[in-house]
Amino acid sequence: MKKIAVLTSGGDSPGMNNAIRSITRVAMKNNIEVYGIYQGYKGLVNGDIKKLEYSDVSEILSKGGTILESSRLPEFKKPEVVALAVSKLKEHQIEGVVVIGGDGSYRGAEELNKLGIPCIGVPGTIDNDINGTDKTIGFYTAVFNIVDAVNKLRDTSSSHHRCFVVEVMGNNSGQLALHSAIACGSEIVVTKDTKNNADEIIANLKYQEEVQHKKHAIIIVSEKIMDVEELAKRISNETGFSGRSLVLGHIQRGGSPVPEDRLLASRMGKRAVELLLEGKGGYCVCIKKDQLVDLPIKEALLEENDKDIQLYRLFEDLV
Ligand code: ADP
Repeated sequence: MKKIAVLTSGGDSPGMNNAIRSITRVAMKNNIEVYGIYQGYKGLVNGDIKKLEYSDVSEILSKGGTILESSRLPEFKKPEVVALAVSKLKEHQIEGVVVIGGDGSYRGAEELNKLGIPCIGVPGTIDNDINGTDKTIGFYTAVFNIVDAVNKLRDTSSSHHRCFVVEVMGNNSGQLALHSAIACGSEIVVTKDTKNNADEIIANLKYQEEVQHKKHAIIIVSEKIMDVEELAKRISNETGFSGRSLVLGHIQRGGSPVPEDRLLASRMGKRAVELLLEGKGGYCVCIKKDQLVDLPIKEALLEENDKDIQLYRLFEDLV
């Protein structure tokens, strides 16, 4: 293998740059040329492909986002668009591609792989929602960002007997909400797995206010589950707290990656190059019990196993 390419696709995540750097440097050590494909599958189809030099990946360790930029291209589901992408790769004599992204990006990689381009998936998403890997690149930084924001809310919450209802990202996974709820000491967490409706949340909050004498409260809610503004209104009307809602939004995704994400991305990037060299196109890199393992991309796309029972129990024990 003499030429490989790397792209970042879907939602950006902090640490993607560390993976790009690792892939580029490890490939160069193996005398392989690395091409950066800009703006994900969109750039691939448009032929926005440039050779990466050693210095192109210097000083990017601490940068959030992705130097290769990202995009969404729904048309990549069409066979003729994937075929066009294959022809662009062949034009550049690129023999393998590392795709850094979430499950949608993995599906695109799988399509390229079916057409004979060996592709390796590297899990770059803050949502931590890819089957087969304990962690995805960017998750640790997003939890850090949420905890940092909630710490600040807690100060004003206790001064004003407020209850903040904080909506966090996570797509359909409750991972970000659960991990940050434990780390922030939130009073209530709401994810697709907790199945607590608004009535139960209000009753729980009243209990914590009246019996546990809580002077402040934080409720962390995973996105796409309930209207946080509506819940905050009910809290104001039905409890002693003044309810406020806040959708944290994209600040969760920004900022310099924390060391855990930098390390994970560096390890996974190296393994992705090794997999290409071993001829294992169609695989993705995972981490299990702190060991790197390989998994067919197809399996990573299966419904995620519930890995959180212990953590939900811990949350309950700590409230
Ligand atoms: P993420 O990778 O973060 O999950 P998306 O779900 O938005 O983000 O997917 C990123 C891109 O991957 C899409 O814009 C599209 O170009 C490509 N993609 C998603 N699903 C498919 C699919 N079924 N087949 C081919 N390409 C896909």
